[in-house]
Amino acid sequence: MADLETRAKRVLSPVLGHYTWLPISRGEGSWLITDAGRRILDLTCGIAVTPVGHAHPKVVSAIKAQADKLSHICAGVALYEPNVALAEALVTVTPPGFDTVFFGNSGAEAIEGSLKLARQVTRRNAIIVFRGGFHGRSTGAMAVTTSKAGYRRGYGALLPDVYMAPFPYPLACPIKPEHDAETCAEHCLAELDVLLEHHVPAEHVAAILIEPVLGEGGYVAPPASFLRSLRELATRIGALLIFDEVQTGFGRTGAWFAAQKIGVTPDVLALAKALGGGLPLGAIVAPRELQAKWLQGTHGSTFGGNPVSCASGLATLEVLRDEKLVDRADVLGALMVRELRPLAGHPSVREIRSFGAMVAVEFDSSERSKAAIKGALERDVLLITCGFHDQAVRFIPPLNITEADLVKGVRALVDAVRTDTGAVATPA
Ligand code: PLP
Repeated sequence: MADLETRAKRVLSPVLGHYTWLPISRGEGSWLITDAGRRILDLTCGIAVTPVGHAHPKVVSAIKAQADKLSHICAGVALYEPNVALAEALVTVTPPGFDTVFFGNSGAEAIEGSLKLARQVTRRNAIIVFRGGFHGRSTGAMAVTTSKAGYRRGYGALLPDVYMAPFPYPLACPIKPEHDAETCAEHCLAELDVLLEHHVPAEHVAAILIEPVLGEGGYVAPPASFLRSLRELATRIGALLIFDEVQTGFGRTGAWFAAQKIGVTPDVLALAKALGGGLPLGAIVAPRELQAKWLQGTHGSTFGGNPVSCASGLATLEVLRDEKLVDRADVLGALMVRELRPLAGHPSVREIRSFGAMVAVEFDSSERSKAAIKGALERDVLLITCGFHDQAVRFIPPLNITEADLVKGVRALVDAVRTDTGAVATPA
């Protein structure tokens, strides 16, 4: 039989972009094992999905036990324990007042539902988003996504009434000379005022939607003051502030949610990825007062919150809580930044950024970042890129990774960059 890559290329749609074509047969904690038995350290978590690593025994046993009992009935058809139990557990870790959950299957769905909720409840249509945000691939989610214009290629008109303001990302700012994040944030807020003065009346705005830390767009954290200003603005104009915490949620930033870390409470949290602990799951979490205004029957899902995904999500949440992994994100972040120090001042490295365990190295080109992850993979470490041009490498380690493994992983990248033939080596 042909190898897996050949078979995949024959039968699977080429529309899906691939970071690698590695044939993976198993995952064990922080490690992936290929069909040929090669062990690869996974610093991607499958794009921020497996915060307690692969095949955690507690998660596996919860999935098996639930699959043995019931894998589907639809939450709208009948009640089942894991659905309610996960919602109950989830609202113990969300910001105060975030006590009511709607389950879907993915991040894009969580965004779609959040936008529907905002439009219906406010009886307004306009959505303000921020340049560089990524919110998913469905038509509505794509309409609010601006991390790469290419995502929209050939798709024609998307959702109307979406307005984009700049996100404070000094390195990507077209305004020269170079300036710091606070100054950049001031410019962005001024542009937001311009938007409200010239493009969309404030009373038309249903929602202000933002990733509190850009994920796909480059692992960029805005100053807290920027998010505080958005909070004040949303309150003042009667719009909902929606935080897309699909990538930042579940401990990645050093708090359960970036909202808590930053100290800014939105009106709606859109969640997915780590929520299901490896199985498909998304959620819209908001105070009951708001959810109760969402007209019954005007949103729904066949698979949303299915029993096995909820059991997996609940077990994952319990492991994060019981093993105190949320607190560990800052420790891991500091360790990664320390180990990346030899790259500071490297001619192809523009910036090393961190926010909790969200760490990125921005290079001067996507050729450099792609060469870096290729070099890391040659050293048996899996990493992926992010950024508007894929010019950054992001680290997304499991939050229970051993320090020794993480050091090994970061050093693989450092080594790859320093020995990249196109790069000028710098002393450590
Ligand atoms: N929002 C953010 C911040 C994301 O990072 C992603 C996916 O990467 C999404 C939404 C979309 O999630 P999904 O791929 O589960 O639809």
